[in-house]
Order: sequence, then structure tokens, then C-alpha cells
Amino acid sequence: MRVLLTNDDGILAEGLWALYHEFARFHTVSVVAPDTEKSAVGHGITLYNPLRVKQVRADGGHKALAVNGTPADCIKLAVLELLDFRPDLVVSGINPGSNVGVNLNYSGTVAAAREACLYGIAALAVSVDSFAPRWYSHAARIARLVGEKAFEQDLADGVFLNVNIPDLPAEQMAGMVISRQGVRPYRESFDKRHDPRKRVYYWQVCEAKPEYAHEDEDGAVLDRGQVSVTPVRCDTTAYSGREEIGTWRFGEL
Ligand code: MN
Repeated sequence: MRVLLTNDDGILAEGLWALYHEFARFHTVSVVAPDTEKSAVGHGITLYNPLRVKQVRADGGHKALAVNGTPADCIKLAVLELLDFRPDLVVSGINPGSNVGVNLNYSGTVAAAREACLYGIAALAVSVDSFAPRWYSHAARIARLVGEKAFEQDLADGVFLNVNIPDLPAEQMAGMVISRQGVRPYRESFDKRHDPRKRVYYWQVCEAKPEYAHEDEDGAVLDRGQVSVTPVRCDTTAYSGREEIGTWRFGEL
């Protein structure tokens, strides 16, 4: 397969190169990633600033392209301009820290996979459930196995996979569950602080995970030490809502 790798943590991030080492053993790999960390930029794209691309050598000399844009920009530029082939598979990650529940809305890691999916390319977002992962290489192997399957099985149009992996060695992993996205919000607040000039600033704090509504939702699966694979749709239409809203009467429009 021809595999394109990206992430939202920047071209030097350890998780990206863990993917590289795993996939390069079996496949042809290109890396196009943001030049600096772009975590939680969601599916933003750059329209009012020029995008510049630099060829860099990272992780002991491997060639990669660094873009001064978002993860979604990286996919667009790679597919439309930078690569002289169409990738068979796009893998985004490996993100340190899970991307589950409502965080799919904010994740740059997930957005890159979604962007590839919009181009009709099989794609996965891969995250490991630790901010300082110890088992990247194991997570990368799982990413490869899932990615190969997604390509072989011709994953449905408009669907990509959000993969979250416990930070555990292989023998402690408790299997894989095809999960659903959690929908309950995290408990959040803002830390209100003062800078050296006594001006107020705010820093967002996540205080607690949500209670899970279903035992097969992504965060709950991960907490049980299982790999969570959620099929995610690009089409965000709420079909059931359409029927209900269709019954509303507006009078004269
Ligand atoms: Mn990140």
C-alpha cells in the first residue's frame, strides 16, 4: 500500500515516527505533517495566510514534508499538490492522549482522517490513552493491522475509523471493541490567572471525565483496557431529526 502519515502534534512528534517505523516495514510511506503542534485545532483550514512546505529530515534522517498549516491543510496539500500518487490509506497520529466522546469535535488528529475520507481515501485516526505513552510501538502495530484491513475491505464511502488504544503491552490488552462515540460532556472550568502585568488570562481545565451512557462507548471501552474502534461518518445529517423537523409548521415563509 501507499500510505500517507500525518498528525496534529507536529513533524517531530514521537507518535508519528512510531507509525512510520511500523508501516515502512511493509508499505511505501510518505509523511506530510504540521511544522508545529496543532492539537485541538479541529477541522480548521488555512485560507488567509500562505501555506509553505519545507522538506525536513526527522527521526534520524527520514525525509518528510513540514507544512505551516493545520492537519486538514496537510491532507489537502498532500493529495492535491505534494504527492505524485494517490494514497491508499491515510493514518493520522499517534496522538498522545485519547480522542473519544465530544473531543472528536476538537481533535486535529481526527480531522486529518476525516479530510482524507472526504477525498474517498481509507483513513484512520489513532490515539493512545496516555499523555506520555510507553507503548507507542505496540499501538503502531495495531494501527497497521486496522489500516491494512480498512484498505483491503474497502471501508464504506464517507466512513473513517477512530482508533483509541490503551497504553499497555500486548499481553495486557483486553481485545478490541467496535464502539460508538460518547456524547456526554466533560466537566470543565477555566483557571483564572494573572500575568506579571496583573492582567487577567484564562486557561481551560478539564476536571472530570463524563459518566458513560453506554458500555460500548469509546471512553468506556478504553477504560476497560480494550482497543476502541469507532466508525465515524462524514455526513453529519441527523436523519431521525429530519422526520421530526419535517412536521414543524412555519405558517407563511
Ligand atoms: Mn495532539
